[in-house]
Amino acid sequence: MNQKATTSLFEDALRQIELASERARIDVETLERIRRPRFIASSAIPVRMDDGTMRFFDGYRVRYDDTRGPAKGGIRFHPGVSLDELKALGLWMTCKCAVVGIPFGGGKGGVTVDPKSLSRAELQRLSRGYIRELADVLGPDVDVPAPDVYTNPRIMGWMADEYSRIRRARTPSFITGKPVELEGIVGRDDATGRGAYHCIKELERIRSWNPRDVRVAVQGFGNAGQSIARLLHEDGYRVVAVSDSKGGLYREGGLDVPGLIHAKNESRSMSGVYCGCSVCECADCSRDHATELTNAELLELDVDVLVPAALELQITGENAARVRAPVIVEVANGPLSGEADAELAGRDVLIVPDILANAGGVSVSYFEWAQNKGGWTWSLDDVHERLKRIMTSAFESVYARHRDEGVSMRAGAYAIALERIAGAVQAQGTYEFFAPEGERQRARPLVDPTHAEARSV
Ligand code: NAD
Repeated sequence: MNQKATTSLFEDALRQIELASERARIDVETLERIRRPRFIASSAIPVRMDDGTMRFFDGYRVRYDDTRGPAKGGIRFHPGVSLDELKALGLWMTCKCAVVGIPFGGGKGGVTVDPKSLSRAELQRLSRGYIRELADVLGPDVDVPAPDVYTNPRIMGWMADEYSRIRRARTPSFITGKPVELEGIVGRDDATGRGAYHCIKELERIRSWNPRDVRVAVQGFGNAGQSIARLLHEDGYRVVAVSDSKGGLYREGGLDVPGLIHAKNESRSMSGVYCGCSVCECADCSRDHATELTNAELLELDVDVLVPAALELQITGENAARVRAPVIVEVANGPLSGEADAELAGRDVLIVPDILANAGGVSVSYFEWAQNKGGWTWSLDDVHERLKRIMTSAFESVYARHRDEGVSMRAGAYAIALERIAGAVQAQGTYEFFAPEGERQRARPLVDPTHAEARSV
């Protein structure tokens, strides 16, 4: 997706897993299983454009792994969507669901398109077309999609409706992130940001932070970026910089986050599906004493916490040395290249990895799926309380691994994820079980191979 990528994102992701596997108590069959996606589907999606012409858009679905449950992962509409990227994202989803202990595997889908260049009717036809083309490889017990970059609840609602028409039965558990009015769940809208917020609250406890002294910069002012900026601002943190694809704003004393969100969302309601304005245009800089800055400058600010919440590969070997924040909370998927990760770890920068920090979204998606399957509804308090329990418990496990074994939080998170996946692989029987009598090696121990954590909440 990002032009700065010099190596394959998927190969980079695999390298991280292989490194972490050296620390995890897993057998070789788990590693073999996780090295490649289970299933890939692609389609040229036909869309009749408003001017009468027919265009074809490349659409994909990667079912990366379903060892621990149905695959789960978003659908992305972006010009940079590629199979390499979706495989990496599917692998991360697999590990993410395992690290928070929810009974899903991982997947990801997308369409290579600039969605902002489409009219509302074209966008709806593309969204429905994606489901028509790929319905056979999706399903509530097979592979469950959700929103991702440049897809949103409205698009999820269209997709749910299309799938229900194909199946001739209302099937809300087919997809998560739907509008609340269309059998979505309350609290899904800000769940990703809220999950990351709980991680920061844990760091606050561990490092005895006073929120007023903590300066935060957030890159990306969409669903995830807005939510975390808002929650931190409400809690007294100093959100000094935010940005979107067009650029960003900086104010030493802290930005008026609710004002910026209001301005941006007001323009969204005027332009329909996507926000038409940038944060730079939303604020009156002279009145607010804010200055404009580029995305590159935001990443290099002297702040206490940096929250990349836009796209992958924003911090690479090229700019990692100039990143000054001592703490990075990865709300975006894969915002750091492997090279950047190593450089920052060498400087003792604490990185809360994406597979933990942004797992709030998929956790509440799990609640939505369970709610749709069970036919009941949960209250907002219930959702918030359960999400807090999942995130706090996952953070504690990962942090304990980091503290006790002297490894990065990323290595600790992957080790936990791999061990949980290994538990499911082991439960089906591996070489140790099936090898001929006399050739069996002693099974290696596995740690916490259950889903007990999420199911007990
Ligand atoms: P979104 O489409 O709502 O927002 C994306 C934001 O990134 C927008 O503000 C956009 O302007 C900005 N952006 C785009 N290109 C940029 C660039 N080159 N530089 C800086 N900013 C840029 O998407 P989202 O749902 O908020 O997702 C953001 C990230 O969080 C993605 O990596 C996504 O995979 C990850 N994530 C999202 C969720 C979720 O529930 N929404 C869950 C897990 C992970």
